[in-house]
Amino acid sequence: MSLRDLEALEYHSSSPAGKVSVVPTKPCRTQRDLSLAYTPGVAVPCLEIHRDPSLVYNYTAKGNLVAVVSNGTAVLGLGNIGPAAGKPVMEGKGVLFKRFADIDVFDLELATEDPKEVIRTCQLLEPTFGGINLEDIKAPECFEIEEELRRTLKIPVFHDDQHGTAIISGAALVNALSLVGKKLEDARIVFSGAGASAISCANHYIRLGANLENILMCDTKGVIHDGRAEGMNKYKVKFARKTEKRTLLDAMHGADVFIGLSQANCVTPEMLLAMADRPVVFALSNPDPEIKYETAIATRQDLILATGRSDYPNQVNNVLGFPFIFRGALDVRATAINDEMKLAATHALAELARMDVPDSVRRAYGVENMEFGTDYIIPKPFDSRVLTFVAPAVAKAAMETGVAQVNVDLDEYREQLER
Ligand code: NAP
Ligand code: MG
Repeated sequence: MSLRDLEALEYHSSSPAGKVSVVPTKPCRTQRDLSLAYTPGVAVPCLEIHRDPSLVYNYTAKGNLVAVVSNGTAVLGLGNIGPAAGKPVMEGKGVLFKRFADIDVFDLELATEDPKEVIRTCQLLEPTFGGINLEDIKAPECFEIEEELRRTLKIPVFHDDQHGTAIISGAALVNALSLVGKKLEDARIVFSGAGASAISCANHYIRLGANLENILMCDTKGVIHDGRAEGMNKYKVKFARKTEKRTLLDAMHGADVFIGLSQANCVTPEMLLAMADRPVVFALSNPDPEIKYETAIATRQDLILATGRSDYPNQVNNVLGFPFIFRGALDVRATAINDEMKLAATHALAELARMDVPDSVRRAYGVENMEFGTDYIIPKPFDSRVLTFVAPAVAKAAMETGVAQVNVDLDEYREQLER
């Protein structure tokens, strides 16, 4: 084991084990406190909520509590390691929700691979939570689970591996294309990967203005084309093109954009050289990208490159999305996170990256220069402005599309977030 591995084990095992605990928010020191926190006092809010169910948001923690639900079937890039082995990741997600948006999380690891059981469990848990973040559930089951929960629940359900990636990479894509002077509607886009994140990214890019006809998607069987039967599912069918191209290299000829959401090292320098002028390359597989950063920039000087890694420029990192998207959704008691809210989050992130970067952010990252350009196309996670940009944008879109159950004054809301 390396020193870094040992450090990670020490971080997790130092007492108390794990990364989270539950902290009461009301005093419970005296006999009087006790009679308020529990019986007899607690019966009063119970009866109020029984009389008016919406008061559950006033008298309990529901409105700031998110369930991070996983069955451990697609954990990070580690694969199907099961629910207990996935728990450190889900606890970690809880830490990030709290750190970046002050949202409380119960992480729930479910011992089932049956989508129907995941669906039923989440349905039964609806009274407890203000929202559900589905996490690390493998494709194509993740699509079915999220669709059914969105149809049946009145709280937001968001599969972060799908939509978080789509929202953040979408912002990076909009900005990268503006830097190279290309239009999204004309861009020829190649995907390596046709799983949870790739399918959601493609659908989100289409909503942002990309043309379905310009998208070619590749998986372990090569290009997804018209009439292909092997390795297909109903979510891939939408992306089956009438084309003679069969391999990733074929697909890359003349492409303006490459989006890698598949596996390490499946892209070669030859493929990058086959792309159009000033190509946009997002090699997002974690922990190792589709092509090494150093190899890619040595191959072409005219590309804009993003990866999923924090040790290179332009990290596409989901933490730029989920805390702030849920913050905005919870604060207007949204019944869903709909497409308009996702688009609003993308545009807010893209806009923020184009603004001047305050000294405090540059200092936090220990760099002299940080300005909109090929090495800075998306904001940094420790930029405190991400909260005040994304959450109000999401809340506004929720109010405008009729899924908000309460309205907020956006200026006041932004000020309140700044405090
Ligand atoms: P997934 O649902 O398991 O999908 C993986 C897809 O990749 C499948 O469609 C699979 O093909 C395809 N694939 C695997 N090896 C391939 C290869 N050598 N060539 C072409 N296609 C290949 O996984 P996911 O959740 O979408 O994640 C995919 C990758 O993206 C992971 O490495 C993950 O860590 C990374 N990711 C990064 C971010 C980020 O923000 N940086 C966000 C999300 C995901 P078949 O369909 O034929 O099996
Ligand atoms: Mg994940």
